[in-house]
Amino acid sequence: MTKKQDIRTLSKEALRKFFENNHEKAFRGNQVYEWLWVKSAHSFEEMTNISKETRLLLEEYFVINHIKVDQMQRSADGTIKNAVKLHDGFIVESVLIPTETRTTACVSSQVGCSLDCTFCATAQLQKKRNLNPDEIYDQVAIINQQSKLYFGRKLSNIVFMGMGEPLMNYNNVLLAIDKITADEGLAMSPKRITLSTSGIPKMIKKLADDEVKFNLAVSLHSAQEEIRNKIMPFSTSFPLDDLKEALLYWYQKTKSKVSFEYVIWKGINDTEDAIGALVKFCKQVPSKVNLIEYNPVENSGFQQASPEIINKYIETLERHKIIVNVRRSRGKDIDAACGQLANKQS
Ligand code: SAH
Repeated sequence: MTKKQDIRTLSKEALRKFFENNHEKAFRGNQVYEWLWVKSAHSFEEMTNISKETRLLLEEYFVINHIKVDQMQRSADGTIKNAVKLHDGFIVESVLIPTETRTTACVSSQVGCSLDCTFCATAQLQKKRNLNPDEIYDQVAIINQQSKLYFGRKLSNIVFMGMGEPLMNYNNVLLAIDKITADEGLAMSPKRITLSTSGIPKMIKKLADDEVKFNLAVSLHSAQEEIRNKIMPFSTSFPLDDLKEALLYWYQKTKSKVSFEYVIWKGINDTEDAIGALVKFCKQVPSKVNLIEYNPVENSGFQQASPEIINKYIETLERHKIIVNVRRSRGKDIDAACGQLANKQS
């Protein structure tokens, strides 16, 4: 017997075609699509407006692969970390981050990561595979439900800052975002979605060409080539000049400022030169800076810089009229914070 296909990899058009080819009304495709994407059906049996015969036909050809929360941990600050199991047994993590006014979902795009950022726990896991659009979408749908259940409100924001490099799984991430923003999905505004990349110039240009409407963040961490190459070795293939050029292209096309994510480490980027290089880079590229607290990762040897240095960064950036935000770390006690996602269950 041939392997059954995951029905959620089919577009609405493809579903309509399937029914047509099987001598049924194409409209059934719309109904099934709604069951899959709006009502989050986990089985064909649930599809009560579809006849038994038709449901058997679907069973014959397809499966519905859903992700499952394998373990849920809650942090003292309200953050929830989900370890979600995929149909083939792999586990990725997604995090719900509540504040007084919003709930943000931090979702994964790959199982593990193929990049080699020396300060990141996920980098210590090998990349196993890309997530499918439905596996990305499901993480968001689950967190939306958790948000309603635990906080009495819908999910308000999404960040692609979980495991993996979203721009190395470009098509699936964009398909997932299409579903997340579609009326026949979660109907979320793209303005509330941020994709974070470690900075792959060619793919940033592609985003701009594809006229995406969501926000872009780049994990910069250093505007000094040599230092960046040391802490993010893969970036040796992507010089800062190329990154800058791609970001200028992004701004020209989208008129949306990129956010630079930046951690300040002792002995790495805590010098006047490092600050000067960041200011220069930010003056060349329409941007804002998010200073992220360092979340300790075992065996990595990194240490957050002193508050004095962090203040110096803030003062200098502000003096140069560069917008700077300081992001407090969330969910650190359950290893749910940035760079701590590594399938470590307690
Ligand atoms: N690969 C993408 C998506 C991951 S986002 C990217 O790199 O942007 C995860 C964010 O957390 C990135 O900005 C990353 O640089 C940052 N990060 C990684 N390890 C960290 C750590 N130990 N402490 C704080 N931030 C970290």
